[in-house]
Amino acid sequence: MASIFSKIIAGNIPCYKVAEDEHFFAFLDINPLVKGHTLVVPKREVDYIFDLQDEELAAFHVFAKSVARAIEQAIPCKRVGVAVMGLEVPHAHIHLIPINKESDMII
Ligand code: 5GP
Repeated sequence: MASIFSKIIAGNIPCYKVAEDEHFFAFLDINPLVKGHTLVVPKREVDYIFDLQDEELAAFHVFAKSVARAIEQAIPCKRVGVAVMGLEVPHAHIHLIPINKESDMII
């Protein structure tokens, strides 16, 4: 069965898309910790980020970096925090979370 993120990528569940290329997809978290909280996912469905092949993992991070740079332009922040959790959705993903101070990070 397709993961909820695969359904989002396929357009079967609505989302606010932030960026997309051939292999990766980025969209706003439905339950954001802060404004601009974005999820970055590989289109290929693997359970956990470190299940990705090394080359794929490198490309995934390069894509995430470009998304983080775009978030920095859109939302004034000190830094875009990066988190890997994977407790809820078994489809590899990175959280990108614009933060201004330590207390913004409630995770
Ligand atoms: P994790 O698996 O890293 O613990 O958390 C998964 C994240 O996916 C959560 O922050 C949750 O809010 C987000 N999420 C779960 N379902 C959906 C959904 O249907 N749409 C969007 N945009 N985000 C979701």
